[in-house]
Amino acid sequence: MEYKTSVKHNYDHYKGHRYDNLDHRKYGDKEADVCIIGVGAAGGVLLYELANAGLDVVGIEAGPFWDPQTDFASDELHAYSLNWQDTRLSTGNDPLKFGPNNSGRGVGGGTTHFTGVFYRFHESDFRVKSTDGVAEDWPISYQDLAPYYDKIENDIKVSGPKHFPWGAFNGPYPYPEREPISAMAQVFREGCENLGIRSSTTPLAILSAPFDGRPPCTNRGFCNEGCLPNAKFSTLIQHVPKAIDKGAEVITDSMVTRIMVDKSGKVSGVEFSHKGEYYQQKAKIVIVAAFAVETPRLLLNSACPQFPDGLANSSGLVGKYIMPHSGHDVYAKFDEEIRLYKGTPVMACTQDFYESDAKRGFVRGYTLNAHGNRPLAMAKVTALDAGYWGKDLREIMLNFNFYGMITLVGEVLPHIENKVILSDQKDEYGMPRPEIHFTYGENDNNLIEHGVEKANQILKARKGKPAFVAADTGHLLGGCRMGDDPEKSVVNSFCQSHDIPNLFICGASVFTTSGGANPTETILAIAARTGDYIADIARKGSVE
Ligand SMILES: Cc1cc2nc3c(=O)[nH]c(=O)nc-3n(C[C@H](O)[C@H](O)[C@H](O)COP(=O)(O)OP(=O)(O)OC[C@H]3O[C@@H](n4cnc5c(N)ncnc54)[C@H](O)[C@@H]3O)c2cc1C
Ligand code: SF4
Repeated sequence: MEYKTSVKHNYDHYKGHRYDNLDHRKYGDKEADVCIIGVGAAGGVLLYELANAGLDVVGIEAGPFWDPQTDFASDELHAYSLNWQDTRLSTGNDPLKFGPNNSGRGVGGGTTHFTGVFYRFHESDFRVKSTDGVAEDWPISYQDLAPYYDKIENDIKVSGPKHFPWGAFNGPYPYPEREPISAMAQVFREGCENLGIRSSTTPLAILSAPFDGRPPCTNRGFCNEGCLPNAKFSTLIQHVPKAIDKGAEVITDSMVTRIMVDKSGKVSGVEFSHKGEYYQQKAKIVIVAAFAVETPRLLLNSACPQFPDGLANSSGLVGKYIMPHSGHDVYAKFDEEIRLYKGTPVMACTQDFYESDAKRGFVRGYTLNAHGNRPLAMAKVTALDAGYWGKDLREIMLNFNFYGMITLVGEVLPHIENKVILSDQKDEYGMPRPEIHFTYGENDNNLIEHGVEKANQILKARKGKPAFVAADTGHLLGGCRMGDDPEKSVVNSFCQSHDIPNLFICGASVFTTSGGANPTETILAIAARTGDYIADIARKGSVE
């Protein structure tokens, strides 16, 4: 059936759908081939790949179906609506902040508000145990993902340098690097050059030339607020409309509260809440792609007589080994104006400290991103993370234009005590609220110390006066790690749960280790590979 309430857009290919009336669901009581929980970064790619393969696929998304032209605004406070704001409880020695700025909510998930920084992981990221004797190796190698990195970069036309100096892929990227670079990126590159550190412009999921009816970036700098002109990639504007054109259904404003299990011990569909009413969607295959907090929460909340400890949890590892990146913001004050609000936030980087170096006293490494910021976000971290209040905070903010910032993306090693569990508090759906435990390990703290020091050196080498450090984190990963051994992991290398063959888990949750770079390109590449695998087993008619 055709839905009449299509959103109007200023580019041709997009025929998005918004509707409230679930009486008109495409499958109703019928069984879909695949039901995807969460149409965010991974969920959007899976929706597209599976619809493209001719499967009956339905995505169920807790948040709205955004229309960039009417829902996104160049306004920091308005943009909070793009983020997951339900209460998440936080504890441990280094409790993580869960507020408006964590994961996404709504079609596109985190890709609607992400900064667009688009790195591949390095070969060593998948072999941490073999090379450094810590953590675990992934069950896949860089080479397994390389064709999917290529595909994703081409599908969305990543812009980047002709030569990227680090890792196994050195460019060129499908589209040329963005120019002009921001003042912060320029200052960063000069600081690096003065110290003999290699730097590069940053690969970005942001257009440097028109593509697919979308315009190139106008450098307005509102990427985290949703990119109203659609120059920044999101699955909302790239994958989901194309999936809908291929017949996929997207049901929005609908929170999945339980995954159903049949008598044979396979999953049979999901139960979800829409405007206070509960519905069911039957499916042959269920994929949970609801981010590192909501995915384990839902699996644990779906405990049933056959699986009393939660679904896919025979290892006891659902929710365990979560990892943020250490994301410390290192500020310096300059004599000239930097104007951190101007332009795409990240346009230069270095990965010279990415690989392990025995001399440093810790294993693994990090990326440093030259980073822009907006006034409210800076005031918040300056107060909450750097501890400036009253007169001092006012003084800093009055000089906002003179500050520069470098952000660390530091690898954090997996530790079993870092976990998502169910608390004894309930939310509006009667689901236990998630409780997240996090404490940095010794290696993590040594790495942070080194990264902050290097960032300060770069700023100083370009005449910045080190000002303060805001101890932030970013990009939560893990909680349903992949691996070959069912006793030490939750899913196999194709994101299929070891315990229930027709239950898949995708997205940030499946990372075995965190790598030292922004993760979304790897999330999307894994989702595309999983999509290929599911399409293949569906063609063969079996999910055993
Ligand atoms: C401010 C910010 C900037 C970032 N910048 C970058 C960057 O520059 N580069 C980079 O690589 N990464 C960046 N990230 C990280 C990136 O956004 C995430 O890594 C990525 O979106 C995670 O993908 P995912 O598919 O696992 O989850 P999401 O993209 O968060 O998707 C999960 C979806 O599931 C939905 N959902 C959750 N629970 C349920 C449920 N029970 N029922 C139905 N739906 C549900 C959510 O609403 C959401 O839409 C940034 C993150 C933030 C917060
Ligand atoms: S800087 Fe470019 S990508 Fe970012 S919001 Fe503006 S147009 Fe979009």
